[in-house]
Amino acid sequence: MEYGKTKRTWSYLQPPAAYGLPPCECDNANIQWSEYVGHLWCEKCQKDFVPAHGGIFDGPIPARLAALMGARFDRVILETGKIERFDVDTGQYKAAAS
Ligand SMILES: [Zn+2]
Repeated sequence: MEYGKTKRTWSYLQPPAAYGLPPCECDNANIQWSEYVGHLWCEKCQKDFVPAHGGIFDGPIPARLAALMGARFDRVILETGKIERFDVDTGQYKAAAS
């Protein structure tokens, strides 16, 4: 029996590698967010996979530090395509002025 997968409702704007997530086992580092929560997508293997570790998400995320290192937590709401900006000062998302 297959484990149920939850569909992602939003995804970060930056690719998984920007958050220290590992490449696919085929060594393709150009991975994408899977349409499923907790999974990544390898275009080369055409498959969803669970990454070996969670990159920066494995620890408490020091948002300010991550921001200094160039990681952004802005996200896109998949259903609407709307962008939400992550405010490192408040720790909250708000709709981007477009
Ligand atoms: Zn692969």
